[in-house]
Amino acid sequence: MRRHDYIIVGCGFFGSTLAERLHSAGKSVLMIERREHIGGNCYSYEYKGTNIMVHKYGTHIFHTDNAMVWDYVNKFGGFNRYQHRVLTTHKNMVYAMPINLGTINAFYGINLRPSQVNKFISSKRGDIKNPKNLEEKAISLIGRDLYEAFIKGYTIKQWGCDPKELSPDIIERLPVRTSFYDSYYNDTYQGLPKDGYTAIFKNMLKGIPIELGVDFIEERDKWRGRCKNLIYTGPIDRYFDYRFGRLGWRSARFEIKKLGLPDYQGTSVMNYADTDVPYTRIHEPKHLHLEKVHTKNTTVIIKEYPHVNDNEPYYPINSDSDKQLLRKYRALAKKEPDVVFGGRLADYKYYDMHHVIELALCKFLSFK
Ligand code: FAD
Ligand code: UDP
Repeated sequence: MRRHDYIIVGCGFFGSTLAERLHSAGKSVLMIERREHIGGNCYSYEYKGTNIMVHKYGTHIFHTDNAMVWDYVNKFGGFNRYQHRVLTTHKNMVYAMPINLGTINAFYGINLRPSQVNKFISSKRGDIKNPKNLEEKAISLIGRDLYEAFIKGYTIKQWGCDPKELSPDIIERLPVRTSFYDSYYNDTYQGLPKDGYTAIFKNMLKGIPIELGVDFIEERDKWRGRCKNLIYTGPIDRYFDYRFGRLGWRSARFEIKKLGLPDYQGTSVMNYADTDVPYTRIHEPKHLHLEKVHTKNTTVIIKEYPHVNDNEPYYPINSDSDKQLLRKYRALAKKEPDVVFGGRLADYKYYDMHHVIELALCKFLSFK
């Protein structure tokens, strides 16, 4: 049986970046992936007969301020110039997200100037000095009215609990702007791979053997016997057989439909802020690729329904008890010197793609 310098568990961006770097440095690498495809949660495929690129696990927009990460991913395929803008529907009216001057003016039916926004919002904010949870943090940023319209219902659906039980940092992902600037991200570099994420992964992993549909945990001893070093990007609690219990995750179900229409909603992502609509957002992926010619009178829409599914962990809930559990698992991980734990599942962190690529590139440098 052939031995490898490294076995890498998981073909997402963390595992694939390290695989690519190590392979280029002349190391022998084998990748193992539980799913039947590479790319992790960024996997994309063309919906049959439409020329529309679908992201199986929800719309993924590449965005970063880090030139090293941007240059790195661009080596494996070209990106288009898509800039992400999100709209949200509340009481059957459409508003811009993240909350900006346009959202505030449209919601209140007023015409504030940028210099007037802070004073106006202060009058709605109340007196929250040290926000302890997501609700308090959101109200301290945008006031109670906007919180109740755009954040409360969406967050209840997304996380399945009262926003008072959630950590304030979840909402810090969203900027609040006093200008009309409505791009979802502030980053310098943004775009979508012209040929989809899977093409990027295929180019990264050229020449590297990959075992698809294989769960490392089920045959751990066999694989461990075939390598000196292990890079593990699966859930950290599962690696240790849930010894102290399970970390909490939120998941989502995606309901996909092909429609005989040129355009369903006029934008790539429409959020639904109210709880009487059961899904959080509708994705319409053809709007991510304005450079492409799509099949006439055809579109694809995907409704996203948050739920619990222990086999598909997407968003770390990160409650106080999760934090305690994580500390215990991290202490065990430290006792495994030949294993690198990394990526969103092993670190139990709400990472974006650029974060895991940067972490993997830095980890590679530390091997030398
Ligand atoms: P993953 O992509 O999850 O890869 C880990 C892989 O390990 C998986 O393929 C898994 O099957 C495999 N694995 C696990 N256990 C085992 C095992 N025992 N044996 C074998 N294989 C195993 N980021 C952005 O930058 N922009 C976005 O717009 C964006 N949108 C998102 C939308 C949603 C709905 C979600 C959930 C995430 C989004 N992200 C986005 C985050 C992005 O998906 C992650 O940052 C990225 O996928 C993390 O890469 P990773 O390699 O750490 O993990
Ligand atoms: N959020 C919200 N309303 C929205 C969009 C986001 O309340 O219209 C909150 C919600 O709690 C969500 C968090 O902001 O979990 C982060 O949003 P983001 O769009 O970054 O989530 P992701 O795209 O990662 O699912």
